[in-house]
Amino acid sequence: MVEMGGQVLNRVIDFITGLPDSPAIGIADPEATTALVREMLAPPPEHPGELATLLDRLDRAAGCAYETAGPGYFAYIPGGGLYTSLLGDLYARAVNRYVGLAALAPPLAALEQSVVRWLAQQVVGLPEGSGGLLTSGGSMANFSAVVAARHAHLGEEIEAGTLYVGEHAHQSVLKAARLAGLRAAHVRTVPSTPELRMDVAAAAEMIEADRRAGRRPFLIVGSAGTTNTGTIDPLPELAALAAAEQLWFHVDGAYGGLFRLTERGRQRLAGMELADSVTLDPHKTMFLPYGTGALVVRDPGRLAAAHQVGGHYLQDLNPDDEVPDFAHLGAELSRELRGLRVWLPLHLHGVAAFRDALDEKLDLAERAWRVLSAVEALELPWQPELSTVAFRVRARGEDPAAQREADEAGRRLLERINASGRILISSTLVDGRYTLRLCVVSHRSHADRVDEAVKIITTAATQR
Ligand SMILES: *Cc1c(COP(=O)(O)O)cnc(C)c1O
Repeated sequence: MVEMGGQVLNRVIDFITGLPDSPAIGIADPEATTALVREMLAPPPEHPGELATLLDRLDRAAGCAYETAGPGYFAYIPGGGLYTSLLGDLYARAVNRYVGLAALAPPLAALEQSVVRWLAQQVVGLPEGSGGLLTSGGSMANFSAVVAARHAHLGEEIEAGTLYVGEHAHQSVLKAARLAGLRAAHVRTVPSTPELRMDVAAAAEMIEADRRAGRRPFLIVGSAGTTNTGTIDPLPELAALAAAEQLWFHVDGAYGGLFRLTERGRQRLAGMELADSVTLDPHKTMFLPYGTGALVVRDPGRLAAAHQVGGHYLQDLNPDDEVPDFAHLGAELSRELRGLRVWLPLHLHGVAAFRDALDEKLDLAERAWRVLSAVEALELPWQPELSTVAFRVRARGEDPAAQREADEAGRRLLERINASGRILISSTLVDGRYTLRLCVVSHRSHADRVDEAVKIITTAATQR
């Protein structure tokens, strides 16, 4: 075991120490990639293989990828993958404890509950008695939130159920609505103000109109940091509207929610504590490996009411007050002990380390925004509220033709930036305009790489 473990650990350490010099995209030659894909599609052999040979193959396969773990990854919403989280996972996978039902491993279920409570009460600011569960990601958290809201407000009469999402809501919210059996036509897209925030007055009007038409409004979903630009919806006003209209208020904080650990985040994300439910994604803004999301709710009883079905094969187990049966709060029964990969880093590094790291990301985004704002060829219409810097090529006129030309120039700009091999950024459409975005989240991205990114972008932007 030591020998095999050592082989794997040595590779992992080589991988991590090599990250600063790894290319931002390791996919070079399409033919070589196709060959590798073919090789990896091969079925398992009848007879035993050799670990070192298999690890060689894995290294080649892992190298042929976007470098999502490295310091130059600023595309989409980055996720780094803390080494100490991996150690927690290693331990969790070895003891293989079952925490879906608390009675099978009470203290380890309590460990996971301590993480959930910390997220619900310390990070989001929900009251005592609040809770929730760790999920595989933000999508599953949004799904269970929509199911809980549907069950609480509509029961089984879901036909007329209607929900309200912002123009810039994440697609997983729309997927959640579909999976929850709601009609696509009843997912109302509320327009945004010019600052890209959900227009609360427009939402109120839509709710009124829907009620008059016999539909049943039951849920408002606000964004605590949109994926496009990191913009925060007016959460206190949305909470007030939801309360006045007796709707469930869900906040999608998959990207932004954890910034509440910082002072600036707490101010900018005020109102999140008024939600009925909040999605968080520790695999983004807590730097943990993929597969770690969270749904926290004001009243875990409503989550259980929506998900718990029973089953006579579970009859020997007693419910415990302090530590819930996570299996009854979400869609999954058997799953890994997810809590340890959050708990170990928190206890090893302390909460302050996470607060400082997130503060650093806010500083870095501000710094990138300041420098890029001075670049003549670019325009940055939105000052970052979190750690996403959105920019586009300045159009040489107000007319649509000039904008189209600028959008084309933006596409070429993205290619030139990513051709550097040192950083990777991504693009989106905002108000129909091609927009580039640099999102600083990885724990491995520091001032040196952000300064390098800004230099690469500035140089590329001067060549049109
Ligand atoms: C990433 C993201 C999601 C989806 O979360 P996954 O962990 O990718 O399933 C939902 N909402 C927002 C705002 C996100 O950024």
